[in-house]
Amino acid sequence: MNALLSSVSVDADRGRPILDAATREVIGHAPIQTVEELNAAVAAAQAAQPAWAALGHAERSRLLRLIADDIDASAVELGEIITHEQGKVGGEGEAHGAAHWLRAAADIALEPQVLAQDGDSRSELHYVPLGVVASIGPWNFPVMIGVWHIAPALRMGNTVVIKPSEYTPLSVLALVEIFRRHLPEGVITAISGDREVGAALAAHPDIAKIVFTGSTATGRRIVESSANNLARLTLELGGNDAGIVLPGTDVDAIADKLFWGAFMNTGQVCAALKRVYVHESVYEPMVAALAARADAAPMGSGHDKTNRLGPVQNPDQFAIVSRLVDDARERGARIAAGGEPAADLGPLFYRPTIIADVEDGAAIVDEEQFGPVLPVIKYSDVDDAVRRANGLEQGLGASVWGPDADAAVEVAARLEAGTVWINQHGGVDPSIPFGGTKASGYGLEFGVEGLKAMAATKVIRR
Ligand code: NAD
Repeated sequence: MNALLSSVSVDADRGRPILDAATREVIGHAPIQTVEELNAAVAAAQAAQPAWAALGHAERSRLLRLIADDIDASAVELGEIITHEQGKVGGEGEAHGAAHWLRAAADIALEPQVLAQDGDSRSELHYVPLGVVASIGPWNFPVMIGVWHIAPALRMGNTVVIKPSEYTPLSVLALVEIFRRHLPEGVITAISGDREVGAALAAHPDIAKIVFTGSTATGRRIVESSANNLARLTLELGGNDAGIVLPGTDVDAIADKLFWGAFMNTGQVCAALKRVYVHESVYEPMVAALAARADAAPMGSGHDKTNRLGPVQNPDQFAIVSRLVDDARERGARIAAGGEPAADLGPLFYRPTIIADVEDGAAIVDEEQFGPVLPVIKYSDVDDAVRRANGLEQGLGASVWGPDADAAVEVAARLEAGTVWINQHGGVDPSIPFGGTKASGYGLEFGVEGLKAMAATKVIRR
């Protein structure tokens, strides 16, 4: 057990066993914290907030940069915990990514806006701290998404209580341990608990804002509880991103990017490509190119960096993936690659799967797979493809693929999504706002918009 892991893991009799996603061996124990401990954490965050806000932007940013350096210096240890718990190849890369996002949140300028000026009269819009921000996160990028929540909240002078996913608590506890080395008591606290603790945090009367990344079902519950505490919400919810491959597309030129847009992190990405509509003129070559890549993609332990794909993180998600593939097969879809567990690698490995000859209405198209499976759907008319892409309740990301970027942008304008990528899918950047529409949630993260989302506005007129 590395030193960072042993600093957050508790004795077996006081904690819940956390398993390595690939081997299913116990890697440590997460504390089982109670609603009383949660209440104490919120009280400590409330007490610490005024002094933290009083430090000002420059000093808070200096501290956040120090923490980013420490995350980079701890990336091997932190990455090991991420890879154990989450299963991914490249846990260390996720740690460095988190440091990069933290630095960006420290560096972005947010000045008061002058709204009107006329002689001596002047109106300004200021961005002021909200108070205590609650962060509730998922298990697919526990540390990266943790920093997406924490960094702008702290930068804007709020204090934070974070509740990690019960599937991946240790990496988030380790991340928070690094933050706490540099921050006053109470500025950030992690509470490791189950859904009930998450619900208690969301409903807490002293929480000013909740930033939540997870499923649409849980997001709806958080909206309901916000009717009582009037907490502001940023909701990054489920996606079922569609891609449209236009006629005339050079299949070989895009196949790699399209494949990894779907299979990055073994498909466990909110804004992964989850269904692709391919014009009939390039349909068979596209299916063959994707199937070849699925068959060739090295899968195995995330600790072996020659692999590109790891396990599905947990048994519940594995059951969803299996059910969706089995259902497609029973409906007569063609399994062009994969289609079964890779039991030789471990209990939660599923072969990268390409499903052809499948239609809207099949569960694999309509439901979010959140795993290593991509349905490839044939279309003949672009307007029809746009209608079908927009036909589901989610609206997180989408992509358009084709030889003429301007023509692709025209199609992009008609897609209902928070981000539409052209000839790529899923890339995010700390300076470019990201967020969903429709049932994929509301509010923006990243960039100056992400900072504004962690502040209250105050107009000062004189
Ligand atoms: P989930 O909703 O099951 O759990 C997310 C978190 O919410 C966990 O920490 C859980 O303990 C907590 N929780 C559960 N019930 C709660 C309640 N009633 N009140 C408050 N908190 C509660 O989601 P998951 O399975 O961990 O994540 C997968 C989902 O997340 C997928 O749908 C995926 O698309 C989505 N996701 C979205 C984004 C994005 O940026 N839009 C990013 C990653 C994942």
